[in-house]
Amino acid sequence: MGKGMLIVISGFSGVGKGTVIKQVLDSLPSLYFSVSCTTRAPRFGEENGVNYYFITEEEFERRIARDEFAEHTRTFTNCYGTLKSEIDKPLSHGLDVLLELNVVGADSIKKLYPDCVSIFIAPPSMGALRARLEGRGTETPEEIARRLKEIALESGEIEKYDYIVTNSIARTCADEVVNIIRCEHMKVARNDLKNKFSLEE
Ligand code: 5GP
Repeated sequence: MGKGMLIVISGFSGVGKGTVIKQVLDSLPSLYFSVSCTTRAPRFGEENGVNYYFITEEEFERRIARDEFAEHTRTFTNCYGTLKSEIDKPLSHGLDVLLELNVVGADSIKKLYPDCVSIFIAPPSMGALRARLEGRGTETPEEIARRLKEIALESGEIEKYDYIVTNSIARTCADEVVNIIRCEHMKVARNDLKNKFSLEE
């Protein structure tokens, strides 16, 4: 069985990560998407257990106390956490695992799993990003202002990532992410070459 790989994707709020991730998952059916826990309310179309596990603050605290998270973080308003089980179970079955994390979570996961691959999805321009955030109509003006503050903080962290991919066209961006995953699997360091090319039977 091949060894599963962890892939971390981050990107500014409103950059279109959701669409890109969906297309990456469609292109690579064996890639497992790690479903995070969050205390924020579901957006229109989001499903419990598919996009997130939507839980209360109390349930989130209980899960912290039970040491169920590989990492967890608090943004201005909400908590997000990656369950250890969402990573370890699929990895032990040889599957690749895709995590969508903010920069704080990506940093924690990189420390825990140094051989993970981290990809930052960037907007074509900051003007395009602001227009998208305002245009999607899912956040209040206060929430947008908070998200723009987060963006300013996150931009200083991009250099910690292994790859940066611009999302001008979601399909192209998704194809680039798929290419990165395929290339990473071809790295010599990720392949067990012991006895692979021995002439002895
Ligand atoms: P949203 O509320 O837009 O779904 O996500 C807000 C931010 O939280 C995004 O940057 C997203 O990548 C991040 N995020 C989602 N799940 C997790 C998680 O489990 N851990 C961390 N650290 N960040 C997460």
